[in-house]
Amino acid sequence: MKIVKIAIDGPAAAGKSTVAQLVAKELNFVYIDTGAMYRAVTVFCLEHNISCQDERKVADALKDIEITLYPDHSISLNGKDVTKEIRQPIVNANVSYIAQNKDVRLFLVKQQRKIAENVSVVMDGRDIGTYVLPDADVKIFQIASVETRAKRRYLENIQKGIPCSLESIQEELKKRDYIDSNRDFAPLKQAEDAIPLDTSNMSIEEVVKEILNIVYKKVGYIHG
Ligand code: C5P
Repeated sequence: MKIVKIAIDGPAAAGKSTVAQLVAKELNFVYIDTGAMYRAVTVFCLEHNISCQDERKVADALKDIEITLYPDHSISLNGKDVTKEIRQPIVNANVSYIAQNKDVRLFLVKQQRKIAENVSVVMDGRDIGTYVLPDADVKIFQIASVETRAKRRYLENIQKGIPCSLESIQEELKKRDYIDSNRDFAPLKQAEDAIPLDTSNMSIEEVVKEILNIVYKKVGYIHG
């Protein structure tokens, strides 16, 4: 049975994780949310009063960090469930500094490649097609206008009862994309062989269908 790797990259709040989870479910593949791992490192640093911009201190802290991803998409940090904590606004504001740190990236990429070693996966992030899984069978670069992404995130927050303003979300997304795209090591970038998918005017169902079509065309029939 062929092992298939699907990489979905793109800017913040482009709907990658929702879509990636649905694609993985449809194909019976493992879903790996790499952003959650950078977020968990951020939670650790915030909890231990380590400045997220202090590269050396953050690198030193890695030896004390153990992250586990579970099949139900929850995540634990040193045995404690942090599925909710990693989505806090303070984590959104700091995670891109953590992700700029090369030691952090090498530490997490090693784990990401290991999880994906012998199974079919859908992995979403920023550098999956370019760096983590350069030989992925299918690479999607999922984009949407910053206005659309901010509006989607705003509605999500309101639904969850998280107070926020549309303007501040839009500013935060722009800032995060800027840092993610301009870091030296493995920045957010479309892989040369990735297929761009602008989802600004598409529903989640349409995006999932489109990605599945691309997968079937490229890989053929899939035994999940
Ligand atoms: O995907 P999500 O928005 O949860 O990712 C949070 C942050 O983690 C991103 O803004 C980026 O700084 C970092 N990240 C990364 N590389 C990945 C996944 C996420 O740098 N593969």
